[in-house]
Amino acid sequence: MTDVSLYWLRKDLRLSDNPALRAALSRGGCTVCVFILDTESEGALPIGAASAWWLHHSLTALMNEIEGLGGKLILRRGPSQKCLIDLCQETGATAVYWNRCYEPDAVSRDSEIKKILKEQDLLVESFNGSLLHEPWEVQTKAGGSYGVFSPFWKAEQALGELPQPIPAPKKLPALPSAIDSDALEDWSLLPVAPDWAGGLRESWTPGETGARTRLAAFLDEIAQGYNETRNRPDIEGTSRLSPHLAFGEISPREIWHIALDRVRADKSGALEKGVWSFLRELGWRDFNHNLLFYNPSLPDTNYNSRFDAFPWQNDPDAVTAWEQGKTGYPLVDAGMRELWHTGFMHNRVRMVVASFLIKHLMIDWRVGEAWFRDTLVDADLANNVANWQWTAGCGADAAPYFRIFNPIGQGEKFDPDGLYIRHWVPELKNMPTKYLNKPWEAPPDILKTAGVNLGKTYPKPIVSHIQARNRALDAYNDIKGAA
Ligand SMILES: Cc1cc2nc3c(=O)[nH]c(=O)nc-3n(C[C@H](O)[C@H](O)[C@H](O)COP(=O)(O)OP(=O)(O)OC[C@H]3O[C@@H](n4cnc5c(N)ncnc54)[C@H](O)[C@@H]3O)c2cc1C
Repeated sequence: MTDVSLYWLRKDLRLSDNPALRAALSRGGCTVCVFILDTESEGALPIGAASAWWLHHSLTALMNEIEGLGGKLILRRGPSQKCLIDLCQETGATAVYWNRCYEPDAVSRDSEIKKILKEQDLLVESFNGSLLHEPWEVQTKAGGSYGVFSPFWKAEQALGELPQPIPAPKKLPALPSAIDSDALEDWSLLPVAPDWAGGLRESWTPGETGARTRLAAFLDEIAQGYNETRNRPDIEGTSRLSPHLAFGEISPREIWHIALDRVRADKSGALEKGVWSFLRELGWRDFNHNLLFYNPSLPDTNYNSRFDAFPWQNDPDAVTAWEQGKTGYPLVDAGMRELWHTGFMHNRVRMVVASFLIKHLMIDWRVGEAWFRDTLVDADLANNVANWQWTAGCGADAAPYFRIFNPIGQGEKFDPDGLYIRHWVPELKNMPTKYLNKPWEAPPDILKTAGVNLGKTYPKPIVSHIQARNRALDAYNDIKGAA
């Protein structure tokens, strides 16, 4: 009788550099690849709308890849534990493999599943398929997460060479008999009416091939200048690999090796600085996952409890203006509209819009985090929560609370010709650059020539920068001494 193994896919929607898949295949016999849409296990967060769009297309791409190699991807919906037990019974599987997830709810769910499957005499093995190094490999001496990035990064690099990526299989075993699989269309992951995903379709190619194309384009065209361009939203100056990484369509270890191979092959040495600065960002990704792993309450509670006393405001109109990109601050509005249209926002602008919500509007960072989780194609609990807390000033290695991003100055500095703002806020496209970030200061004749009628064609600022800044600093001073 053929041995049957299950390979359970989660955030590793790829065939290349996939340790769990390799382990399942190397056992011989038949490997059943299964993806479970689990919104029912305890603590499972609802999948955001933009992520659901991505997931649909990523699974479509993966199903085609798997079928091209002779296999089949089985889709099931329900609590993971029940689906896996059912599948083991239906197929007679004697082993289950997966690549590990590190979010607190996934960790407890997976530990329970491992225990139960082992009790049923199944072989169960899990692997690192998502991080450069797993949280327990990079601990402080006391055993826990680093609170500061630099020593973390030093410790991580000191761990030595990463294993070489595992090649994708050349073929996959056919399944022995028909195994029930859901139809992807029945999962209703795509928007129906209205179809808001046009901008996502224009901007992205989900799937492993799309990820590899992005990486190649980044290394060919952007990496050399990444150090300078990474802060500029007006140019394509970063890799845009984040959604591919969030869905595991490419592994960070493979990116690491491909990028460093390119550095070694580049005799001019021009790539080195940019590539290392890019790899450092993968280090931040590990840092945030590490932080969440050791601080499972991070999604709901301030890392720095002093902020528990912060007087957050309840202002639904301000939140709506922020979500819709109608705050009257052009850089903030451009970012929020880019997010709505493409499911992505440049990192510099993410910091500005997050700071604006938290500090200018004094809205709880959890409100912004939830909006990002729903609208970002790269929504990732660890990265999202840690970055929101970082911007708020209550996170690990955080920007100090009194560092309040000036939305006007940030636009003038990082979008110097206003290309980014003009693209996403077309009502302002004819404004002279001098007034683009502060149209309310433009004289009436300039506004008229630019076709801007403040309060009608483009909003007046919903708060005054100076007053909002002072209000936030006063509130911060009040909690500064708290425990
Ligand atoms: C408020 C806020 C919320 C954020 N939410 C998310 C999120 O949900 N998911 C997410 O992946 N990133 C998030 N980020 C981090 C960062 O903005 C994105 O990872 C980055 O913009 C993705 O673009 P890129 O792939 O072109 O990045 P690149 O500059 O090309 O960087 C390469 C990779 O490094 C990682 N990376 C880059 N910057 C960071 C960072 N600050 N923290 C952790 N990892 C990083 C990403 O995986 C990224 O793909 C957030 C940042 C802020 C300020």
